[in-house]
Amino acid sequence: MAALRPLLFLTSALTFLEAIICVVWAQTSPQTIYDDLRAILSSRSEVVLTEDPTYTRDFTPRYNTAGEPTYIVGVKPALVTDVQRVLTYAVGSNISFLATGGGHGYSSSLGRMEGGINVDLDMFSTVQVDSDARTMTVGGAARADQVATALQAAGMEIPVPQCPCVGFSGATLGGGIGPYSGLYGPISDSLLSVEMVTGDGRLLNVSQTQHQDLFYAVKGAGFNYGVATSLTYRIYPATNGGQTMNADMMFSGSLNGSVWELAKQFAATQPKELSIGFSVRYSSEPTLNGIIITANFIYAGTQDAGVALIQPFLDLQPLYLNISTVMWKNIPAVANNGAILTVGCKPGVYYVPYGLNLYQIDVQNLISVVNYMDDAMTTKPTLRRASVVWQQYASYGFNLQAKDSSAFPHRDTVAFLQVGGVAVDATQGPALNKFGRETRDLLQRGNGEHELGVFVHFAHGDEVPAAFYSSAKLPALETLKEAYDPSGLFSWYNPVVSRDREC
Ligand SMILES: Cc1cc2nc3c(=O)[nH]c(=O)nc-3n(C[C@H](O)[C@H](O)[C@H](O)COP(=O)(O)OP(=O)(O)OC[C@H]3O[C@@H](n4cnc5c(N)ncnc54)[C@H](O)[C@@H]3O)c2cc1C
Repeated sequence: MAALRPLLFLTSALTFLEAIICVVWAQTSPQTIYDDLRAILSSRSEVVLTEDPTYTRDFTPRYNTAGEPTYIVGVKPALVTDVQRVLTYAVGSNISFLATGGGHGYSSSLGRMEGGINVDLDMFSTVQVDSDARTMTVGGAARADQVATALQAAGMEIPVPQCPCVGFSGATLGGGIGPYSGLYGPISDSLLSVEMVTGDGRLLNVSQTQHQDLFYAVKGAGFNYGVATSLTYRIYPATNGGQTMNADMMFSGSLNGSVWELAKQFAATQPKELSIGFSVRYSSEPTLNGIIITANFIYAGTQDAGVALIQPFLDLQPLYLNISTVMWKNIPAVANNGAILTVGCKPGVYYVPYGLNLYQIDVQNLISVVNYMDDAMTTKPTLRRASVVWQQYASYGFNLQAKDSSAFPHRDTVAFLQVGGVAVDATQGPALNKFGRETRDLLQRGNGEHELGVFVHFAHGDEVPAAFYSSAKLPALETLKEAYDPSGLFSWYNPVVSRDREC
């Protein structure tokens, strides 16, 4: 595929303003783009045509292949100035580009990017912990498991996404949630500063004292404004000596009303150390044969105290029970019998995601959703590949910082839900999409008058921006977009504002 190319080639890759001057365009071949990038990037950087087998072998794979972005050239910048140079070159050549962190972003909005440059941040993957200063600095592509491992070794902690392969920085830029969010809020609340190449080509250090407006936006909408090359966080001494209780249970779907009643009771008083997860799905095992609910409880405290807390769920007499004490970093390997580690770290799946926040627990509505799932999955086996996954954290952590402290708008969420389906192949996509949309709509009925809200990283990509960022916060985020990304370069992933480039 050929891309547009300016007749005026930029000799100085960093003169950004020159680069965005509209010029007469001619076709540019992938080979020319390759040659141009090779010429302007530092020697340690990698440039590979995507048709080259090296690309598939060496570049970060995408978790979700449904509607994935397509590229003609992959770049692994070695230096921050390389990131600036790619950006400037791409603008000057009118070629789209997208940063890749952990490759786990799954919004269908990413599929709008076609034939661009993949800026794989793989060389920005370091994690440095300073336990005396209680800070951690990570590269733009550091993964959740790297962070958890480094912090556990240092006797410290921070909320991390439950999937260990997710980009920690990528997650942070959308807020980021995990089992310890009940203690500390979204991951972005722990950010102290971010080094970022913005859409206007500048390299900025962004914090509470520098570019404070952008710092606000980075904490929940960050991928709209630039490439974060390095992020520094506040970290916390490990709770309970870094040990946590993990409890997995399974209930028959017929008990779902009782499960939702308990979930509602817990939501009102949930201790900050406790996180609750449910997965509602269909089991074809002969002994179960129908809807089941698996439940997961993570308690940052002693096993005795945790078991006492979750006794009401134990009283429902789960069909399966497994309780253990594990090191905090090993939660993904143990929780849900390790399902997240197995499924979440296997790239190349055809995943059909939908999501929404629950702002209250409407037990009757949830029962009708489970009935709908049961009917749909009984009659259409393809839909048995779908599930509703529920994360319920204590409100304590989310209320530690003021609502207007950042772009993250979901502090009043009671449960973060994902309606997801993993298709065998694309032919199952339409059925799973229809099911996902219908289930989301049914679940949303339980929110009463509240507008649809969805944690930006759990979104399908068909929602309006107000669903990711809230109507209240959107105008300010749009204004910041004008200031830091006036050409709308960073508009591929659940954008604040979707804008076609001019010129
Ligand atoms: C199996 C699975 C489990 C998940 N579990 C959780 C969870 O428990 N908690 C949670 O919060 N989220 C979770 N997520 C969602 C996850 O946080 C998002 O998918 C997030 O976008 C992943 O970031 P990434 O870097 O891996 O993705 P990528 O696909 O690399 O990036 C996604 C978007 O962010 C941008 N981006 C990434 N890094 C940077 C950067 N350094 N600078 C600028 N832009 C960047 C990319 O350009 C792209 O637009 C999960 C996702 C999956 C697939």
